[in-house]
Amino acid sequence: MVQCSRSNGALYDDLSTLAFPPSSTAFFFDFDGTLAEIVEDPRAVRIAPEVLEALSRLHRMSGGAVAVVSGREIDALDAFLSPLRLPLGGAHGSERRDPQGRRHQVEADRQSIERVVEQLNRFAASHEGLLVEAKRTSVALHYRRRPELERACRELARAVADTSGLSLLEGKMVAELKLSGRTKGDLVADFMAEAPFRGRRPVFFGDDVTDEDAFGALPRWDGVSVKIGGGPTIATHRMPDPAALHAWLRGMAGPPSGGTERAGSS
Ligand SMILES: [Mg+2]
Repeated sequence: MVQCSRSNGALYDDLSTLAFPPSSTAFFFDFDGTLAEIVEDPRAVRIAPEVLEALSRLHRMSGGAVAVVSGREIDALDAFLSPLRLPLGGAHGSERRDPQGRRHQVEADRQSIERVVEQLNRFAASHEGLLVEAKRTSVALHYRRRPELERACRELARAVADTSGLSLLEGKMVAELKLSGRTKGDLVADFMAEAPFRGRRPVFFGDDVTDEDAFGALPRWDGVSVKIGGGPTIATHRMPDPAALHAWLRGMAGPPSGGTERAGSS
């Protein structure tokens, strides 16, 4: 396996030494920081048209074995990925749309969620720039615009987790309190039990701590896990940034049908 030295001293494995035949690979992608670049306001995130197009081609080439697995809810993911309609795992394991288009959901305890939303909103009201995002089975406190408040936000989230019984996920510039004990690893396992994913070798790309659960599940199917960016990980491989994944994706999917890849488009 080739190790490439990066200017920041980190190492990553060269994924080009591995083959991923579309007919025998199950492709899993996290969304934020992986398919889409991280942006200041999580509502303003966009997926580049050429990335979406490559994803669409890979979906076709692989006979449908492409899924996006994210902390976001399925409806939000659909809006970003439109017109593509993929199998999706959402809300950190609480929601899933299977390859047949059926939805599976963990029941939400609305009262617990609403109490936590109130607590976090009170805090955000006195700290400009913080954003509270209420989802069906979780509540996220985003502090990307106030990174100096990270410690205060995490302490608050930990205290809320202790009193609410919700579990805490600490991500990049976000602390999220969620209801279910399910993880991205459970979502991958659900997909791997069904056609067209079943019997294939999975590869999972992700950038954040919640993706570690998916990475940890992969050895069961001799899978390949790819951490995007720096930071500690149990992944078997690493790519330096989303742009490297996007280049890999375009290479896997080949040129767009009815045209050739534009030179220098990256
Ligand atoms: Mg991510």
